Amino acid sequence: MVAVIGLGNMGMAMLRRLRELGVAVSAWDLDPAKRAAAAEAGARAPAALADAGAPVTVLSLPNEAAVGAVLAELLPVLPRDAVIADTSTLSPGAVRGFAAQAAAAGCAYLDAPVSGGPAGAAAGTLAMMVGGDAAALDRARPLLDRLAARLLHIGPSGAGQVAKLVNNLLVATHLVVAGEALRLGAAAGVAPEALLPVINGASGRSAATEVNWPRWILGGAFDSGFSAGLMRKDVRLAVALAGAVGAPLDATARAAAAWEALSAAVPDEADFNRLSAAIFEGEVA
Ligand code: NAD
Repeated sequence: MVAVIGLGNMGMAMLRRLRELGVAVSAWDLDPAKRAAAAEAGARAPAALADAGAPVTVLSLPNEAAVGAVLAELLPVLPRDAVIADTSTLSPGAVRGFAAQAAAAGCAYLDAPVSGGPAGAAAGTLAMMVGGDAAALDRARPLLDRLAARLLHIGPSGAGQVAKLVNNLLVATHLVVAGEALRLGAAAGVAPEALLPVINGASGRSAATEVNWPRWILGGAFDSGFSAGLMRKDVRLAVALAGAVGAPLDATARAAAAWEALSAAVPDEADFNRLSAAIFEGEVA
C-alpha cells in the first residue's frame, strides 16, 4: 500500500499511474471532490487524513504550510520506519526541518521533487531528485521506480530541492529568453514556425524550444498542468536560496524579475507557458 497525499495535477496523475500498475493506493486531499475522484480511480479515500497514511507515503502539495499541516497530523500515526517521499517543490531549509521532525517520530522524510509534469507522472517517466537517507530511499525505491524513469539520489536532506530549484530557475529563464529571441526573429521577418525547427537542430535549443513552444504555445493549447503561480513560487525559492548561500544571480535574476513583473498579464492561475507567449507578443518586463 502506498499513500498519495495531495491530489492536484501531479498527485492525481501519480495515483492513476499507480492504479494502472495494480498498486493499492490510499489517498487524501483537503478537497472532498478530489477524494471522490480518487475513490472512483480505485483508491482507498478515507475522510480523515489520519487514516490515509501508509508505509510509503507520497506527498504532492503546493507549499510548505500544506506540508507542515499534513505532517503534523500524519507523523503521530504513521507506522515506525515509514518513508515519506515529498515530491512537492519547497525550500531546502524547510525540508531539512521536516526531515528532523520525521526522524523524531521514528519515520524517514525524503525530499523527492520531480520534473516532467502531469504527463510524466501519468506515464511513470518523471525525473525524481532525492535528498535524504539512502537506506530510506532503498525502502521506497520499488514504489518510486514506478513513478520515475530517473530516480537520482543527490545527497543529504535538502539536496533534492537544490537540484530542483536549479533546474526550475533554468526552465523559468529559458521560457523568458525563448519568448524574447523568437520575438526578435518575428520582428525581423522569420516566424517561430520557421525558426523552431532550425533552433532545435542547432545549439540554441532548450526544453523551452523543443517542448514548450511546439507542444503548448504554438498550437495555443496551454494545458500543461503547471501553473504560473507554482513556477513563480519555484523562482522565488531559487532566488531566496541564492541569497541564503551568497551566490549572486545576474541573468537569471533578470528572468526571475520578469516572472514577477508580468503577474498582471500572466496571473498565477494561468498555464506557465503563457509567460513565454506574452513576452513573444510584446510584453516587456
Ligand atoms: P495543484 O495546485 O494542482 O494541487 C495541489 C493539491 O494540494 C490540490 O488538490 C489541493 O487541494 C491540495 N492541498 C492543498 N493544501 C492541502 C493540505 N493541507 N492537505 C491536503 N491537500 C492539500 O498543484 P500541482 O501542480 O499538482 O503541484 C503539486 C506540487 O508539485 C507543487 O509543489 C509543485 O510545485 C510541484 N510540481 C508540479 C509540477 C506540475 O507540472 N504541475 C511539476 C513538478 C513539480
